[in-house]
Amino acid sequence: MATAKRDYYEVLSVSKTADGEEIKRSYRRLAMKYHPDRADGDKAEAEIRFKDCAEAYEILSDPVKRKRYDQYGHGGVSGQHDFSHMDIGDIFSMFNDIFGGAGGGGRGRGGGGATSARGYDLETQVELTLAEVATGTEKTIEFERQDRCETCKGSGAKPGGDVVCVQCGGQGRVAQQGFGGMFRMVTACPNCRGRGKVIKDPCGTCHGSGRQLRKRVVTVKIPAGVHEGQAVRITGEGEAGEAGGPSGDLHCYISIRAHSIFSRHNNDLVCQVPVSFTQAALGAKLEVPTLKGTEQLDLPAGTQHGEVFKLKGKGLPDLRSTRNGDELVQILIEVPKKLTERQKQLLRDYAATEDGNAMPQRKSFLDKLKDMFKGDSV
Ligand SMILES: [Zn+2]
Ligand SMILES: [Zn+2]
Repeated sequence: MATAKRDYYEVLSVSKTADGEEIKRSYRRLAMKYHPDRADGDKAEAEIRFKDCAEAYEILSDPVKRKRYDQYGHGGVSGQHDFSHMDIGDIFSMFNDIFGGAGGGGRGRGGGGATSARGYDLETQVELTLAEVATGTEKTIEFERQDRCETCKGSGAKPGGDVVCVQCGGQGRVAQQGFGGMFRMVTACPNCRGRGKVIKDPCGTCHGSGRQLRKRVVTVKIPAGVHEGQAVRITGEGEAGEAGGPSGDLHCYISIRAHSIFSRHNNDLVCQVPVSFTQAALGAKLEVPTLKGTEQLDLPAGTQHGEVFKLKGKGLPDLRSTRNGDELVQILIEVPKKLTERQKQLLRDYAATEDGNAMPQRKSFLDKLKDMFKGDSV
């Protein structure tokens, strides 16, 4: 059946031979353009475009998926990247590297033509344990930010302490001659910075800024499976805008505390378990730790140093799907540093019975060694 999907290269307006940098650049530009918070006009349309771009980028930025797409088209990569139900903010944090950690939502203060400047975005860090990454969590964050001044309600002036701006007549906007005199542009009035009023008698609390430093406590929901350095964006929890302008956003950057036993490799957890050489040789039932408790691992007889056993699904959840990573248990064989006289005797007795053929690695090494010296002498 024919699919109505548009070609991914077309969606990102790049050629079939575009390299990774080109694809990334184009995606960044389009995502910024279609971000529903920024797009002018039809927001719903912009959101669809934005998600299409995210989907195309997800495939074309991954060499393996891109190759499959090139060979088999949409059918080759379907079912692994449905963004249509995701929150825009989530998509942005997912591609955090692309957006240089800005979360994508941040616009600077005083964008062209705005009558009231948007507040600054704020950044904060949230530290999680691996156990919290596994389940997802809620964190309460306390921080200070510039809020609207309570005394003057953000106007910056004492009651009756402001006068209408003479330059714009209170409109907050002025018309200026544009590029080469070709057209006229309406911009924020430079005299009152878009307020329409000029402060004559500033508010005693905020000294005319209309804002006040205040403590703020917010609760942020962290999804399971997040990675170090990703950001969760909370819309509108940044600083208050100037003169009643919209607030900025708060970006919570994830930092993950090192675990004493587990290290993380993507969604897998790696755990090194020391065993004695007798356990490795004879086999043993091991209790190995998982993030949620312990699991039994049947160590087979003849386990080698460094061998890895997989506990399926005992790793971390995947942020984008319902799959789980695995826990990889690596066996380290530890040789005792001290032996009693009796143990030494037992080992000497054992050594006398040692069979080279039961240790294929050692046997093959000795054979190679023999060949090497043979070669030398000829
Ligand atoms: Zn003005
Ligand atoms: Zn004030």
